[in-house]
Amino acid sequence: MKLNLCIDIDGTITDAYYWLERANQYFGKNLKPKDVTTYDIHEVLRIPREEYDKFYELYSKEIHLEAEVRENAQNALVSLNSKNNIFYVTARSQRMKSITEEWFHKNNLPKGKLYLLGSHYKVDQAKELSCHIFIEDRYENALEIAAAGFKVLLMDCYYNRKELMPGITRVFNWVEVYNEIEKYREEIIKGTIKIA
Ligand SMILES: [Mg+2]
Repeated sequence: MKLNLCIDIDGTITDAYYWLERANQYFGKNLKPKDVTTYDIHEVLRIPREEYDKFYELYSKEIHLEAEVRENAQNALVSLNSKNNIFYVTARSQRMKSITEEWFHKNNLPKGKLYLLGSHYKVDQAKELSCHIFIEDRYENALEIAAAGFKVLLMDCYYNRKELMPGITRVFNWVEVYNEIEKYREEIIKGTIKIA
């Protein structure tokens, strides 16, 4: 039985703080990952949003291409891809399509279908894809997606350590992601969980 897995990219497949070093250099800061306690980067850097946007405009390609893959994400994704349908659902904009594909190729990640929404709102896409499990790192997304009735695995980061609601499971690495998905599959097979 194939599950439909919606998987976010930034902070979920990638290391969550991969933009930090370049941002520190550019803005003359010395922030550490533990300082990133909110998702909005300009707030972390204490600069106006427009300044961050300018930086992102200049370096987005390099930043995304240099992004590191989280430990075990590659082998977990390869394995998950052989048993499930993988859909990458990202807030990145369409213009990042080729860079994103290049990065997937460079890191030997399975070529799932790619949805670049250009927005943080992912609920409609999850519905359209008949999502069974959504893997995400942004707290607000997790709440929204879970409130719409989807199971969410929230990849732990300094900026999402807030209270969770039913339907969201906090995970700390890709071994846990893999195991949670397998557990879910077994529950469906046993009939403990009913899916449409
Ligand atoms: Mg993300």
